[in-house]
Amino acid sequence: MDKLVSLAKRRGFVFQSSEIYGGLGSVWDYGPLGAELKRNLKERWWRAMVHEREDIEGLDAAILMHPKVWEASGHVAGFTDPLVDCRQCKNRFRADDPRLKGPPGDPETKCPVCGNKGTLTAPRMFNLMFKTFMGPVEEDAAVIYLRPETAQGIYVNYLNVLQSSRQKVPFGIAQIGKAFRNEITPGNFTFRTREFEQMEMQFFVKPGADQQWFEFWKAERMKWYQGLGIRAEKLRFHQHGPDELAHYAKDAYDIQYEFPFGWQEFEGIHNRTDFDLTRHQEYSGKKLEYVDASANERYIPYIIETSAGADRAALVLLVDAYREEQVEGETRVVLKLHPSLAPLKAAVFPLVNKDGMPELARRIYDDLRGRFNVFYDDGGSIGRRYRRQDEAGTPFGVTVDGQSTQDQTVTVRDRDTLLQERVAAGRVDEYLSARLTA
Ligand code: ATP
Repeated sequence: MDKLVSLAKRRGFVFQSSEIYGGLGSVWDYGPLGAELKRNLKERWWRAMVHEREDIEGLDAAILMHPKVWEASGHVAGFTDPLVDCRQCKNRFRADDPRLKGPPGDPETKCPVCGNKGTLTAPRMFNLMFKTFMGPVEEDAAVIYLRPETAQGIYVNYLNVLQSSRQKVPFGIAQIGKAFRNEITPGNFTFRTREFEQMEMQFFVKPGADQQWFEFWKAERMKWYQGLGIRAEKLRFHQHGPDELAHYAKDAYDIQYEFPFGWQEFEGIHNRTDFDLTRHQEYSGKKLEYVDASANERYIPYIIETSAGADRAALVLLVDAYREEQVEGETRVVLKLHPSLAPLKAAVFPLVNKDGMPELARRIYDDLRGRFNVFYDDGGSIGRRYRRQDEAGTPFGVTVDGQSTQDQTVTVRDRDTLLQERVAAGRVDEYLSARLTA
């Protein structure tokens, strides 16, 4: 993991937030390459979940919502973690922190940070929602929350979307957006952060059809990740046992990835029943039934949710792509990202900065720029330039050499096979298009 974190910083994927001030706990910024990677991931998700499906509509709901939403959803009362405080060193832990040896509150249990015995409090419940105030007065009546999940924005808009899009059940609503959780034991780089982005889709179905749709989405989502090039043996499902299952869920599976720190969830597929819409109907006083005129039926739909973290999935992509290979006695570090996700699609290099090479290389670069995110690099030896692009995960390297100015051909180096092909300078665009959209 340390090697990946240092590569992420070195190449401009991820930086610590407010680093010059010492950083802000578990908040991260994406640099030039990271911003592209995450964007490509979100675009692929949106394409698969919205554009390619007739039965799913997109939504972009606000982060701030009526505070009653969070009462109805159960977050005000129940979105809590049991926490333990050390009276001596003032540190705070989750009650299930593996570093705690023995029950907190027991005089024999030691604080895992300061090592003192008997200084830990008994567990107390702590709400994970960030609170702020709306309007000029900081009083209880003005309390508002930063949303801890995007799902609720979809539920409260379900009738608006249904009516404006003229969809019929079964249909879905998809959304990508920020969520905030005041996590107490964050860590493992961008795995658990306090500000993150979710890619959620809520699929509304007739009660009774829920199991079938649950199975459908479970299979579909796993297939999608495999289609991004993630190694199948590093992916698995984990079904929630009775003690893990949320109060509203009938069945739930996590899609897990084998990180260097173990198997961990990065997407959840949940059968949320009619819990959410029933609660919003109750708390808002507005009817949220679906009226099926042709069958002369009305009911509150069941919801099948697919809930992924964009940041966590981006971390999966980085971890899975990271390889160290021996090439001619040297270690090559390469990110084998799927070309559609790679931040840069190609880099263009003049072999040396003379004899007409930079002019031709610039021309090719300018031509490609209109279609792909490409990079021009004329600094340092060609070997170093290739290595930099390997670390960035750039699938192709286009080199203008001495022969190029004679016969208008260039070499195109493949990141994964390291093979170089000669291609007519005027056809590089076509060559890349065929391979990048495959
Ligand atoms: P965990 O058990 O890891 O806290 P969760 O079960 O609370 O996760 P959900 O509420 O199901 O997670 O959220 C759905 C997805 O949102 C997760 O699979 C994950 O990808 C992402 N996610 C949730 N919390 C965080 C976080 N603190 N940082 C980054 N991503 C998160």
